[in-house]
Amino acid sequence: MADRDRVQEILSGTHAVIDLDRYSTNIQLLKQMAGPDRELMAIVKANAYGHGAVECATAAFEAGATYAGVARVDEALDLRRAGVTGRILVIGPPNPAQVRIALVHQIALTVATEESLAAVERAASELGRPATVHLKADTGLHRYGALPELFLALAVRLKNSPHIDFEGLYTHYSSADDATPEPTERQIEIMSALIRQLAEEDAIPRLVHLANSAGIIEGYFPDTNLVRAGIATYGLDPSDEVPVKADFKPVLSLRTVVSRRFTLPAGESVSYNQTYTAEQDEEAASAPIGYADGLERHLSNQGWFTHHGRRCPILGRVCMDQTVIRVPADAREGDLVAVVGDGSMGEMTVREVGEFCLTNTYEPVVRIAVRVPRLFVRNGQMVSWSVPLLGEGGLIEGDRALPVE
Ligand SMILES: *Cc1c(COP(=O)(O)O)cnc(C)c1O
Repeated sequence: MADRDRVQEILSGTHAVIDLDRYSTNIQLLKQMAGPDRELMAIVKANAYGHGAVECATAAFEAGATYAGVARVDEALDLRRAGVTGRILVIGPPNPAQVRIALVHQIALTVATEESLAAVERAASELGRPATVHLKADTGLHRYGALPELFLALAVRLKNSPHIDFEGLYTHYSSADDATPEPTERQIEIMSALIRQLAEEDAIPRLVHLANSAGIIEGYFPDTNLVRAGIATYGLDPSDEVPVKADFKPVLSLRTVVSRRFTLPAGESVSYNQTYTAEQDEEAASAPIGYADGLERHLSNQGWFTHHGRRCPILGRVCMDQTVIRVPADAREGDLVAVVGDGSMGEMTVREVGEFCLTNTYEPVVRIAVRVPRLFVRNGQMVSWSVPLLGEGGLIEGDRALPVE
């Protein structure tokens, strides 16, 4: 199928548009904020916060990132399978059964327990090739990380192990996106003390990293040479207290189409459980997007779409696969409708969706479902797409269609 046809297919249904120029610009802005002596790791876990991991990782390396960070070994393998050759760190606890395959594909792993170190050493010695390892300290988040005593012991073992290339050490902030600096300052103090002790053992690896997006914005990156940025690379605020500056632009927009146009008669109710009733005749439309696509059900009777910049309130319950909206009189079947974007045309922003759903800016984008095709744009041109449900080929048309029993 010609590319043009596939793009037309995607544009005729619910889809997300990912602006890779904006993503690259946001990465460059973060690099400037971190200063010339710091590398940037682009965090592309969870399918790049819903934006498309392969395309974002590739664009991040082009924009000057030196590392990609993912949460799971699977995510790292997915990048390798797609031909991403840059450095990748798994920032979560590695699944012990996947340590070997990770090392085969030169994926760096995080160690924070005796068991994870033993698993990595065993696999590396079997493969006859040193494993690249970052050691993570628990300085207050109390999730994955080694508390100070264990951290120091593991660092010395990593430094002396013939099977390990001890490349980095890091910790993760619990509250850099809060207005209060105290929790972060305490974590920095604990980390600084650990680093001083390791310096005495001559066990400081090449890379030391602390800051996430909020930490970069707030300048919490003393004595480090790498920062890890996720949410801000996508142009989204880490929190209301710690927003990105105005020159950051949201990368993702979510769009759907009018699938059925109709007049909702006065007195009639819409969607499951009849939670919205028209007081007068209303111009309405259904759109093929629902909570299975990541459009939160909390937006029922609260959120809105836009049709050429005009607000179309959601009427009644958001369903699994469809939603009903009020539309302007000139809306036609097949018209594109904005669901979420940068707000410049009055559409809901990710932050507004988060507020309606009592959550942060991360969850609304991460939840955009696999079945939603992504279109990737550079210089206002579609450069690629990902349609995970159909794969690259889709189905065969015409005479070569497969017979169905
Ligand atoms: C997710 C994550 C990040 C990125 O955080 P943002 O707030 O999105 O910048 C950085 N480091 C670790 C360890 C993480 O888990």
